[in-house]
Amino acid sequence: MTKIISSNLGYPRIGEKREWKQALEQYWDHSISEKELLDKTKKLRLENLKKQQDLGIDLIPVGDFSLYDHVLDTSVMFGVIPNRFDYHGGKVSLDTYFAMARGVKHAVASEMTKWFNTNYHYIVPELESIKPTVTENLPLTYYKEAKQELGIDGKPVILGPITYLKLSKGYEEKDFGHLLHAFLPLYIQVFKELEEAGVTWVQLDEPIFGTNLSEEILANTRQAYEAIQDEVPNLNIIIQTYFESVVQYKEVVDLPVKGIGLDFVHGESLSLIQEYGFPKDKVLAAGVINGRNVWRADLENNLQLLADIKQTVESDRLIVQPSSSLLHVPVTKEQEEDLDVTIKGGLSFADEKLVEVVTLTEGLKNGKQSVNEELQKSKQELERLRNSTLRTNKEVKANIENLNEDDIKRSVPFNQRIKKQQEHFHLPLLPTTTIGSLPQTTEVKKTRTAWRKKQITTNEYEQFVRDYIKKWIGIQEELGLDVLVHGEPERADMVEYFGEKLNGFTVTKYGWVQSYGSRCVKPPLIVGDVYFDQPMTVKEAVYAQSLTDKPVKGMLTGPTTIYNWSFVHNDVPRKTVLNQIGLALRKEIEALEENWIKIIQVDEPALREGLPLDRNKWQDYLEDAVYAFKLATASVKDDTQIHTHMCYSDFQDIFDTIDALDADVISIETSRSHGELISTFEENTYNKEIGLGVYDIHSPRIPSKEEIKQNINRALKTISSKQFWINPDCGLKTRKEEETIEALKTMVEAAREIREEL
Ligand code: GLN
Ligand code: ZN
Repeated sequence: MTKIISSNLGYPRIGEKREWKQALEQYWDHSISEKELLDKTKKLRLENLKKQQDLGIDLIPVGDFSLYDHVLDTSVMFGVIPNRFDYHGGKVSLDTYFAMARGVKHAVASEMTKWFNTNYHYIVPELESIKPTVTENLPLTYYKEAKQELGIDGKPVILGPITYLKLSKGYEEKDFGHLLHAFLPLYIQVFKELEEAGVTWVQLDEPIFGTNLSEEILANTRQAYEAIQDEVPNLNIIIQTYFESVVQYKEVVDLPVKGIGLDFVHGESLSLIQEYGFPKDKVLAAGVINGRNVWRADLENNLQLLADIKQTVESDRLIVQPSSSLLHVPVTKEQEEDLDVTIKGGLSFADEKLVEVVTLTEGLKNGKQSVNEELQKSKQELERLRNSTLRTNKEVKANIENLNEDDIKRSVPFNQRIKKQQEHFHLPLLPTTTIGSLPQTTEVKKTRTAWRKKQITTNEYEQFVRDYIKKWIGIQEELGLDVLVHGEPERADMVEYFGEKLNGFTVTKYGWVQSYGSRCVKPPLIVGDVYFDQPMTVKEAVYAQSLTDKPVKGMLTGPTTIYNWSFVHNDVPRKTVLNQIGLALRKEIEALEENWIKIIQVDEPALREGLPLDRNKWQDYLEDAVYAFKLATASVKDDTQIHTHMCYSDFQDIFDTIDALDADVISIETSRSHGELISTFEENTYNKEIGLGVYDIHSPRIPSKEEIKQNINRALKTISSKQFWINPDCGLKTRKEEETIEALKTMVEAAREIREEL
């Protein structure tokens, strides 16, 4: 290779208008056939490729597209299909594929969990008793398609063996080498077929190298890559890492492949190459455009970064690219017509990022002057944003500086507070509740859209919201739940909603990114100092409470979750932004309390996923998260009960943090990880109250009473019934009305029966 080339690591699947989501959901609803689904998604896939081709990207990824999730695709490609899905060899059907993702009547879905520190969820491969085999060479299929249809010589993207296995479950650590050995021939077969088809570059994603790996795994890794090198010596494999610099840098860059992809935006890749050098025989794929946020790059700085990189790696061995797949950012800012021009000027979504990549490649090739205009433009736009009045609020800055330890302490410890709370609420043993949202039917979504488009008045919309609340308070009372919720009908999304109300935020119209399956979220943008200016949730909570004698929970999203699920400007340290959000929520909580809302839930589902990949960075992150949560919640009265909710079960290693949040009650997802969480409580003592999700809400399947009772009883073996709450795994917004009522009815019955058996 003699010239610098531009590359991409992955492109959003969803389409400019979420066409992908629509097609999938139509198929699941049986309103389109399999063929129609495949046609629609093929069209979209080709459009995505064509766009990248037109933008001038040299190395275009293929096989990054998926009908659900790329980890699930890898499992299907290798026949990693749990027995309960009745798979008997051959090509895996689309229905089996979706069954693994979503569950079917006779078989629960596979566990779903967050992809590294992102809000993207992948389907966890289950390796118990499987015999891996190549069922279909998916990357090859996609490679051929791109070549035939568009003449693109694509770069197949494949999830690397070390990452794939590390993200899987169903084996013990000591068997890692053995398993790797079993998968290796399959990878080699896939590679050989790619090589035969004329593939030049392969992107082998190994983001796991951004985490801390044991010596043994590193040794296994080395052997595996040597075997690959022996078998396909001419295939140019790039080991692609992202989201963090490589923790065991020397070992990884020495692996026998043609290229290494490093993230120069997150972590310390530049100092690593400067300190330890970079192998002379390898290509460096340099991720310099941030694939994780939406802000325009300062191209001059980026060009300088590339110049610094060039000190170590000559330019004929350089590939210029985003820091990660663009799956994590929206498609294009082109459609954002209503956005403030200063803000819009400072933005860069996937398509705009690719333009930046191309510009940088140009600049590196032909000198800075050749792209001078673009460099100036990026500087001006960023400066305009930085100087805008949207950016700074002096009072907020001062408040943050004056914080002290008392601001984050509840007035008495948990064991004293809980007594007062019990006296106040008189809840039964094993109180039942839900996590907050109730079904967002098409009617709810349509009405919200109509209101946004000004087709109905605010009065009409608010009346609709009140009717919903009233209906569901009635349903919850009838079901016999103990602590009720208003159901969140006014929120399209738990972060976007607060983004719309808090100062310092902006929301986009089409800024969607995939979260799990067909579900997309639209993260708000934090453009300036964040502060509270008027109550955000009080009206709905108070109305709901006025309809019932049972307590209604106030429902807020916590600081770390708001932070992690927003696109945050990068001028101010994380801690400052977190505390600004914390202070704003504190005011909201005080407003709820003044209006007699005595149970307030502050959700932190994103706390865990935001953990840095590199464990050495965990402590700082967790301390900041705890501080901001306590800042939000600590000012309440002793008999006001603070709840929190987290949707994951991988809990062991942050147990102390969860305790340190000092919430009176926590609810956690459990059932989708098939109960592994409970062992955490065998090893740790937790004295506060806790609800472990007793059924999976991600699947349309309605749990049986026996199943729920089993889940509860299993938990009660380790957790005292005095501490235990009964709730579903997570919010119910994605479920249908009948499903929800049926499932909750079963849950309440299960709770009653267990109370009697105690
Ligand atoms: N209260 C939110 C809801 O029920 C929590 C959602 C979540 O944890 N992701 O929808
Ligand atoms: Zn949840």
